[in-house]
Amino acid sequence: MATASDCLFCKIVAGEIPNDTVHETDTVLAFRDITPRANVHVLVIPKAHQDTLAQMSAEDADSVAELFTAAGEVARLEGIDESGYRVVSNVGPDAGQEVFHVHVHVLGGQNLGPVAAGRG
Ligand code: AMP
Ligand code: ZN
Repeated sequence: MATASDCLFCKIVAGEIPNDTVHETDTVLAFRDITPRANVHVLVIPKAHQDTLAQMSAEDADSVAELFTAAGEVARLEGIDESGYRVVSNVGPDAGQEVFHVHVHVLGGQNLGPVAAGRG
């Protein structure tokens, strides 16, 4: 499995840094964000390292599908599948990406407001 030695999320996958796991499969890990920005805030990551969604191509179709399937499962487990939730991925500087290991945020448990911040 692809790993990056100085990657925080690879260390979480390896069990070197503790995490609050919500859901796990052979290929994906979902755990609570350490700085929650909504009542429910879970990160879903592929266990194999890639820097950003921008690196992913058609060859990674299975990996992308697993990521989004897991996001849906997290929503069910957290009881927000019917109230609604947001799945978002920050890619690069303008999005404020902090951790360069592909992840999606699953946010919910409250009204989330407009999708984009920063304008107006
Ligand atoms: P992003 O800005 O999309 O790269 O998001 C990275 C997210 O990782 C932020 O929301 C952080 O709060 C979160 N985060 C950083 N370190 C940890 C950690 N050790 N465990 C869980 N979440 C973390
Ligand atoms: Zn990584």
